[in-house]
Amino acid sequence: MPMAEQRCYYEVLAVERTASGEEIKRSYRRLAMKWHPDRNPGDAQAEIEFKACAEAYEVLGDEEKRRLYDQHGHAGLRGNPHHDFRSMHVEEIFSMFNDIFGGGGGGGRRGGGVARGFDLQTEVEVKLVDVLKGCKREVSFARAEVCGTCQGDGAKPGSKPVTCPTCQGRGQVQQTGLGGMFRMVTACPNCGGGGKVVTDKCVACRGNGRVRVNRKIDVSIPAGIQDGQVVRVQGEGEPPRREASSSGAGVRGDLHVVVHVTSDDRFERQEDDLIMPMAIGFAQAALGATVEVESIDGPVQVQVKAGSQQGDLVRISGRGLPDLRTKHRGDLVVMLMIHVPKKVTERQRQLLEEYAKTEKVDVRKSHEGGFWQKMKELKDSLTGN
Ligand SMILES: [Zn+2]
Ligand SMILES: [Zn+2]
Repeated sequence: MPMAEQRCYYEVLAVERTASGEEIKRSYRRLAMKWHPDRNPGDAQAEIEFKACAEAYEVLGDEEKRRLYDQHGHAGLRGNPHHDFRSMHVEEIFSMFNDIFGGGGGGGRRGGGVARGFDLQTEVEVKLVDVLKGCKREVSFARAEVCGTCQGDGAKPGSKPVTCPTCQGRGQVQQTGLGGMFRMVTACPNCGGGGKVVTDKCVACRGNGRVRVNRKIDVSIPAGIQDGQVVRVQGEGEPPRREASSSGAGVRGDLHVVVHVTSDDRFERQEDDLIMPMAIGFAQAALGATVEVESIDGPVQVQVKAGSQQGDLVRISGRGLPDLRTKHRGDLVVMLMIHVPKKVTERQRQLLEEYAKTEKVDVRKSHEGGFWQKMKELKDSLTGN
């Protein structure tokens, strides 16, 4: 799964960096209505915009996350997991920002099935060498958990939630959307769709039935992972929302870990191949040589053929990176870089002068399938054609 490019959250919500919390909220509400799929039937781009707005609002609508984003940009939010809106249904997003829309979707219950919690998304960095064998990374994140004091219903121990007077316990009301542009049956704004309201709130969770809990887990990053790919850790997301299942019974969401592979000065990765430059002397290129280089997993012998040219590629089979699925390793591709000394010793000068007397370079040779052909081959081999 390729990573979507990251857009500036202020641009997404069409607000100034100095906008107040209230302005951000207003702009989000306006854009969410504009891009709401009900109003843009069959328009996939509208849904993408709708979700991008929700993602931006989750950050800019939260003081702490907004401060991190202002200081460090998207990088400031790494390790601070957010909801994975791209995998969410529109009605789920509506119900998340219940307070803004005045009551939203189906309380996290899809088509009458089992209640399912939200997915979370976080990011990790691994080095290129870790791609060889795979690795484990500790990921720490905060997620909503069922409050242990009230067992999730939000009511003070000894008291019980009561039937919601607004919807008489049905959990749904018929609503006309903002501006009268669409009509829908939505979750009751008073009880959020659960059909019950808490009069005497649990102190531990302030009546939410859910508390934020920090969690640390080890995530296995498989060998062969590519930059931007996602490792899905099943069941490490959030429990179902209180309105869908107050005790949290049902299915937890997943944790999506976006893996960033940092670049390595020594190698250029081309799918499963690793390309590296190797300097050789003019004499080695002319006469041929065996040269040892450090591959990603220890030294290898590179056979330089007599008459090698600048930019020639020597392929060493099976010393690249493994394929994610088959684990079959790609190649190490060594690019020969012929080194011309800036200074020569007296002895070398004598030898080279001797040699020069015997050498005849035909300048026309450089046009005959020489330089330009070489450039083309190089480009083709790098793009895998
Ligand atoms: Zn509680
Ligand atoms: Zn209600």
